[in-house]
Amino acid sequence: MIRGALAAWRRRVRRPRRAAAPRALILLYHRIGEPGVDPWGLTVTPARLAQHLDALRRSRRVVPLHELLERLRRGEGRLAAVTFDDGYSDALTQAAPRLADAGVPATVFVTTGALDRPAEHWWDTLAHLVFAGALPTTCDLELAGRPFRMSLEAGASGDHAEATDGPWRAWEPPPGPREALYRALYDLLLPLRELERRRALDALHAWAGVAQAIRASHRLLTAAELRDLARRDHIEIGAHTVTHPWLAAQSVADQAAEIAGSRQAIERVIERPVTAFAYPYGRTEHYTRQTVRLVRRAGFALACANVPGPVDAGTDPFQLPRLQVQNWGVEEFAARLLNLT
Ligand SMILES: [Zn+2]
Repeated sequence: MIRGALAAWRRRVRRPRRAAAPRALILLYHRIGEPGVDPWGLTVTPARLAQHLDALRRSRRVVPLHELLERLRRGEGRLAAVTFDDGYSDALTQAAPRLADAGVPATVFVTTGALDRPAEHWWDTLAHLVFAGALPTTCDLELAGRPFRMSLEAGASGDHAEATDGPWRAWEPPPGPREALYRALYDLLLPLRELERRRALDALHAWAGVAQAIRASHRLLTAAELRDLARRDHIEIGAHTVTHPWLAAQSVADQAAEIAGSRQAIERVIERPVTAFAYPYGRTEHYTRQTVRLVRRAGFALACANVPGPVDAGTDPFQLPRLQVQNWGVEEFAARLLNLT
């Protein structure tokens, strides 16, 4: 009780001082399209994105990410930057036209492993596999060299039932066996290297009786599309590794190859220097101090995390906080922005 009261008092005391310094926000979007099954809340519809951008530019000056810290140091306030992670093809088809309409600059962080072959990100493929249709009642497989067994019982057949109070999110307790299966498989696949992960997904497809297909709705940018995107006014391209690994779970050599490799692959395609990086998954447990050193050494000027918070002139340029935007209505969008400032 006393500790709680003391913490509340400290928050009250600190608030006025913190509000005085010029601050900025960096927004993080992922996929722009129709949500469908979206356990991580990564999808914002094109109409909502347009509303967000309109509300954002009315309340803040939206600047290119690489100018943000310098402008803060000069004392400019009410700034924002917009970013998109993961290199979904809709960055070109959906986001770019709406950014152009709103006159808002943005940085698109691209995972480069898929530039030369059609691909989806593994978490989307996994969600499609687990939630798309009927499944066998038991999952009993060897995945990544370990036995994996889960019973689906009631959740095995028919469509996945959506909760009445909105879609299930993967950070919430699973309401049924399918959600539990998705979360268990996600946790199992997350630390794996790409080859192991692909083998595990192959085994899961065979078990589920689901054909592997790259959906247009979830497809990643090709090299030609990336080149087109990079030519658009106000769009910058940043690096987001080659295979989107959990960097903290990889060897130093593998991390270095992922970080530098994505930069080189993008520069080959767009023929322009790449100076911004975003850590895959982006929470503090997903990268280490060593990872930050590797990013600096690879020649990047800044790096983004996925931890919400305001940015000020003293913020570490290699751990920039960002607010992950969900498919919020415009009132909720405005309220979330206000919460951080
Ligand atoms: Zn990502």
